[in-house]
Amino acid sequence: TGPLLKVENLTKHYPLGAGILKKTIPVVRAVEDVSFSVEAGETLCIVGESGCGKSTVARLLMRLAEPTAGRVLIDGTDIAGLKKHELRAWRRRMQMVFQDPYSSLNPRLTAGQIITEPVENFEPLSWKQRKALAAELLQQVGMSPQMMDRLPSELSGGQRQRLGIARALALQPALIIADEAVSALDVSVQAQILNLLLDLQQQMGIAFVFISHDLGVVEHIGHRVAVMYLGRIVELAPCEALFAKPVHPYTEALIVAAPVPDPTRVRLAAPVDGEVPSPVNPPRGCAFHPRCPLAVERCRIEVPPLVPMADGRVVACHVRAPAQPEVAVSARPPP
Ligand code: SF4
Ligand code: MG
Repeated sequence: TGPLLKVENLTKHYPLGAGILKKTIPVVRAVEDVSFSVEAGETLCIVGESGCGKSTVARLLMRLAEPTAGRVLIDGTDIAGLKKHELRAWRRRMQMVFQDPYSSLNPRLTAGQIITEPVENFEPLSWKQRKALAAELLQQVGMSPQMMDRLPSELSGGQRQRLGIARALALQPALIIADEAVSALDVSVQAQILNLLLDLQQQMGIAFVFISHDLGVVEHIGHRVAVMYLGRIVELAPCEALFAKPVHPYTEALIVAAPVPDPTRVRLAAPVDGEVPSPVNPPRGCAFHPRCPLAVERCRIEVPPLVPMADGRVVACHVRAPAQPEVAVSARPPP
């Protein structure tokens, strides 16, 4: 059997504002030819600076936006072609946890109503069933069942994010997409929520697509990591390998720029210089070339392809991961 989630050449362009002449509307190239897969029970992290397209990828996965090109397959089925009843079944397989536990929960519903609502969208629950389900879900996320009658305004940020997770768990999904799910929380609460996600993964075999700008979080939770820069994946590697030896110059700069908890770890290079260019008019060739210390002439002209490396990672860089020259089939024998 294939992977749980497969993303093929996903691309999202959208017009920026409205122009009088259609041709003059600038196009935001939010996501450009992104491909990856996620196995059951695995955590794939997507990292990058703000504006790199990672949240757009999440929206495309959840069908909150339509791709310009490319496909999203769940269990081998293209979700774009699903009929209504199939879509319902698919919705049970994939759930989302949002960044802001303050705005993503309905303030007028009790905790119990919030977390059982996804199930009630599928089947009516009796008062007794709802109470039992709410108690079970609260316990799964480490909260007391007594909390079920509270309103979101009566809960802390960490408790609200636990509710967001309980709500996502209600339909027993195979995959949870988490977009900056701990970014709004205090560091100590972040650690609790991350450990909860790890526990849930171990108990239930849930897969995660975990989107974050925070490398410390990614290192804690990821099995594999995709690094995005201006809409494209520039490196995708097993988590340990990525942090031990980043290959793409951008990955390297990100890791060097991240706060290092271990003071014996040496910073090898300067942090990333310059601003992230706009996805409206991304630089030609390798989009990282204006900031890259290794850039050569070719980088200004050709987009580097993702090249598989011996250790199982893929890297898009003309210098660090040169593409193999094509084998000439009809080469003349030497004289
Ligand atoms: Fe730097 Fe060139 Fe590699 Fe892009 S392709 S990361 S500009 S060396
Ligand atoms: Mg975002």
